[in-house]
Amino acid sequence: MIGGLLMVLGIVLMLIFAAVTFAVWTAPAAAVGGAGLAWGLRLGFPAVVALLVWATFLRKPKPAPTIEERRALVEPLSDADCFCCRSPLATVPDLHCPTCKVTIYRD
Ligand SMILES: [Zn+2]
Repeated sequence: MIGGLLMVLGIVLMLIFAAVTFAVWTAPAAAVGGAGLAWGLRLGFPAVVALLVWATFLRKPKPAPTIEERRALVEPLSDADCFCCRSPLATVPDLHCPTCKVTIYRD
């Protein structure tokens, strides 16, 4: 969805910058505002078009994280605090939360 919108936006911007590139290349330098500015625009706008082509069609999207990478981000359960109420866990007879009465079993 977002990728499709970005592609449409990229194509629209590409067309606009391509039209402006055509305009600055076909207009006389004096009409653009002097030779220096005219050549700056004549080279700058195609560079923007090239950048948009790259960003829209050639850039590879970052691959989605693998299941192993996602699992590595999961925080293991604490042995010190209850995961429900955050109160300190008791260890006798088993690891448990005195408030919630949840017992934590480990392999
Ligand atoms: Zn608890």
